[in-house]
Amino acid sequence: MTPPITIGVLSLQGSVEEHLLSLSRCEGVTPRAVKTVRALQQADGLILPGGESTAIVRLLRAFGLFEPLRERIQAGMPVWGTCAGTILLAKDLIDEPPHLGVMDITVRRNAYGRQTDSFTVSDTIPAVSPDPLPLVFIRAPWIEKAGPDVQVLHTCRGHITAAREGRLLATTFHPELTGQSAFHRYFAAVVRESVN
Ligand code: GLN
Repeated sequence: MTPPITIGVLSLQGSVEEHLLSLSRCEGVTPRAVKTVRALQQADGLILPGGESTAIVRLLRAFGLFEPLRERIQAGMPVWGTCAGTILLAKDLIDEPPHLGVMDITVRRNAYGRQTDSFTVSDTIPAVSPDPLPLVFIRAPWIEKAGPDVQVLHTCRGHITAAREGRLLATTFHPELTGQSAFHRYFAAVVRESVN
């Protein structure tokens, strides 16, 4: 049997419990809430949840986690950003300075405007699952541009909504709110590969 991997969920603000629950349904994964440097160092991979990116960044700095997180990502820790998490990962944000600036994507916040700022679609993402998955967008960003080493996993309404660059995964929607763990299993495979 392969030893369990620990996947952390940054637990400062946003949809933390939902991610922990989704991870608990993945075989061989120990979910762990992360809000200290020590917990960060013990995680094999980390999820940056959705929420409010500006609030999460402020708390990352207040808890002394911003630099240690960036250093671990630069050292190769797998990270999956959902929604606000995607905003944190991006090297470029339209009209504002970037935050962690580690993934070669350009992101537009609150991209869908007021009329359709939240919606759900069902679509198949072959890299992740052969079955259609519900994709929940909540005041979501979109990925306006992706660098040459970024693999586009999904587009919706003409914009990139899921992408991977090596050990970094970004989804502008919220798989943790759907009761399905296909994306969590996909990320767990990325993490498992990185520890082997
Ligand atoms: N609109 C939020 C932001 O800009 C992201 C929304 C979300 O994570 N659901 O940070």
